[in-house]
Amino acid sequence: MFYFVKIYEANYAKKMREVIKKLTPDAKPKIIGGEAMEKTEQDPKGEYLSSDLWYRAVMQENRGFVGKKLKNEIYEALLREVPSLCSMLLERTCNLACTHCIYQTEKSSKKASEQAGLTDLAVAAVREMPTKAQSVNDEGPKFIHEGRILTKWHLDVFEAIKKARPDVKIGLIDNGTYVKYIDEFKHRGLQLDWLDVSVDGTETNHNRQRDPIHKTSFREAIKGLERAREVVKSSKDGGRVSSLLTLTKINYHDIEAVAEMLLTGSPGYENGLVDKFSVTTLSPAREPNKLIELSPNFASGDIQDFDVAWQQIRNIFARYNKDSEQVRFTVYRIQDIEKITRTVGPKKFLEAVSNESGKDGVRVTVGEMIFTVDGVTVNYHPLSTWPNETLLIDGDGVNRVAYSAQYTLKELQTGRSKSGEDVFKYSVNQLDSDFSFPEQYRKQATQWWKCFGETNLDKEADFFRRLREMAVTK
Ligand code: SF4
Repeated sequence: MFYFVKIYEANYAKKMREVIKKLTPDAKPKIIGGEAMEKTEQDPKGEYLSSDLWYRAVMQENRGFVGKKLKNEIYEALLREVPSLCSMLLERTCNLACTHCIYQTEKSSKKASEQAGLTDLAVAAVREMPTKAQSVNDEGPKFIHEGRILTKWHLDVFEAIKKARPDVKIGLIDNGTYVKYIDEFKHRGLQLDWLDVSVDGTETNHNRQRDPIHKTSFREAIKGLERAREVVKSSKDGGRVSSLLTLTKINYHDIEAVAEMLLTGSPGYENGLVDKFSVTTLSPAREPNKLIELSPNFASGDIQDFDVAWQQIRNIFARYNKDSEQVRFTVYRIQDIEKITRTVGPKKFLEAVSNESGKDGVRVTVGEMIFTVDGVTVNYHPLSTWPNETLLIDGDGVNRVAYSAQYTLKELQTGRSKSGEDVFKYSVNQLDSDFSFPEQYRKQATQWWKCFGETNLDKEADFFRRLREMAVTK
């Protein structure tokens, strides 16, 4: 008689061997792959990046779950990876109410920012941020104004940062309304290191997604890009103008048209309006907002919307990434990785993420796994290891974690969402002007790991296990 028993933990394998021996003394149980399974301690000297350990956990061990020891090593590695980036949400209100927006409609947070002393917190944040030489990803210190809109006092924050730490690069994410402060930038001699203004489709679809009532936001975004070079350093000094398109059910067929409009130039803008055009998928936080959905039954071709988007992404990679990297495709969620898998087919996808050699081989760097499939280079940032991306400070001076933006300040401060969800887990703690950036980062990493990271890691590991099964059966 022959029985096949599949076991994932080495300890269980040993126990199972003993049980079989007791029941049938003549049996010679064979444990296939037992040695590899027993090897759970990967990083005894604490030398690896969390991403290296992550790749090993989900791709190389591929057991569908991650053992406690390895999980702990990933967490320990995360604690070491103090980012060189601080993201600050300087204003919670916005002039628009985009259908895909992660934020809810909210009143101005200026008073909360004044009470928290946000300018002092920004200075405290950059003071101890790792230098280029100290950073884990070999990048110099950066500060991003995460939105939602720029107001005049935010320029005081930029000035204070520059004064405290001249090597910090400053970036702004905006919808085009910053234009009204161009003179103020010039008056203060302030220049941004980069500016990103989103364009979410051709004029009709951008306005449908972002501004269905007034229908003026497309023009504002384009105006913002046309005037960007007035506030951004020149390209030779490292300045960069970029645009991000968030993929939704409204705009998934507009990718090529937008890339062409922004990258190939038009009269007066022969070099194009932007240096870089990025495409990303919609945040899960407010899924009713036009997410390209995934049916529960796995089958390539059952996500026609994403199929169309993927073909367009392939085309823009073929056209614009020959000599330099002008386009980028970034995903964060394992559900989006699954969309790509369904579109290209599991075998091809598995080959792409397993191929560790050559120009198109998979690369693992801090917080991301980069792989090329179907001619598209995908920058995948697994949510499990999010904290090393940035230290996030909200408008009320509280250090919060990713996706906290889906709740209003009031919900976050009371710890209860309107629907009754406990949302305390999104807030780390209120900062004061003496806070230490590395220490605070470690608090943020611990909170994320406990509340979100480990759970996400389990989902990621489970997907890559299923991927192997799908690659065999499909
Ligand atoms: S997506 Fe940006 S511009 Fe649109 S409502 Fe949200 S914060 Fe404002």
